[in-house]
Amino acid sequence: MNRFWSEVAKGLSPYVPGEQPKLANLVKLNTNENPCGPSPRVLAAILDATNDALRLYPDPNAEQLKAAIGKYHAVDEKNIFVGNGSDEVLAHVFLGLLKHARPILFPDITYSFYPVYCGLYQVDYETIPLADDFSIWISDYAKPNGGIIFPNPNAPTGCLLPLAEIEKLLQSNPDSVVVIDEAYVDFGGESAIPLIANYSNLLVVQTLSKARSLAGLRVGFAVGHVGLIEALERVKNSFNSYPLGRLAIAGATAAFEDSEYFEKSCKTVIASREKLIAELKPLGFEVLPSAANFIFARHPQHDAEKSALALRQRGIIVRHFRLPRIDQFLRITIGTNEQCEKLVTALKEILIESTGSA
Ligand code: PMP
Repeated sequence: MNRFWSEVAKGLSPYVPGEQPKLANLVKLNTNENPCGPSPRVLAAILDATNDALRLYPDPNAEQLKAAIGKYHAVDEKNIFVGNGSDEVLAHVFLGLLKHARPILFPDITYSFYPVYCGLYQVDYETIPLADDFSIWISDYAKPNGGIIFPNPNAPTGCLLPLAEIEKLLQSNPDSVVVIDEAYVDFGGESAIPLIANYSNLLVVQTLSKARSLAGLRVGFAVGHVGLIEALERVKNSFNSYPLGRLAIAGATAAFEDSEYFEKSCKTVIASREKLIAELKPLGFEVLPSAANFIFARHPQHDAEKSALALRQRGIIVRHFRLPRIDQFLRITIGTNEQCEKLVTALKEILIESTGSA
């Protein structure tokens, strides 16, 4: 703290992102990046855009990218909003669509940036406990609210809510915005984007950081009714009119044009996930059903924080949250098969060391 801080700066509780270590050779399974890497067509498009035109501002509306997203998802460009990572899109959603007199609702265990945005923008919220099996029950959301938001699949659990349940939620909340954060949907979920044609209260948020392996490019987007998109454009144009640079627009556009690579990469991650789960269960781990590029696992006899530390000493980093209900879980990003093998070998050693038996 310093005497120049505003009251706003003093009152913030910022989000703590997963560590991005400087050390080489670490097996990094802590921030849900995609081990497959971006499509070669994305890299070529970025190289191609690396030219004298960088002296010019980018297109403030990123129309080239909106056209590519629109084509891929069969929606009109006017139903699309793009931003600097889905975190920025979400920030604009909290300010532009979720700040109302009534509290918004989200699960007690969910993406930990949501309460941070509520703090930043003074949005009232109420958390709704997940069921004992960590699933979302939409009947728990049947109360007056200023909006509803959750990821599907949820984070950090990886659990998926069927689309039919989301449709019921939209029907029972015609007067509030329902935001579905689909950061991980491509690893086993079904997108709610087609529902925007029938529900003007639905906003779907997606990112290129996960399935399209472009976390470093910072591109996210939202799809919804024009009325919702307009609110986001108003916030964006009151904050930063050029959230996406020329290289980001070029790379992200190419990512949507290479669906073959994208599908292959999703299949690879899903196959590695299933293999990893099949290896962890015989070691005694309980693994929640995952439709994401990570798993959420606990071992009834081994403390999660200690295991995370022991993995770290072996050069493997996973995410542990010191939070109620989930402090005995590890969130493990699906890496390459080789990385997953290293993880399993290390866990076997750790289990033997601490109990004398695997
Ligand atoms: N939503 C969820 C549920 C996430 O886990 C993340 C990644 N931390 C994001 C949104 C933000 O992703 P990005 O800003 O990289 O698009």
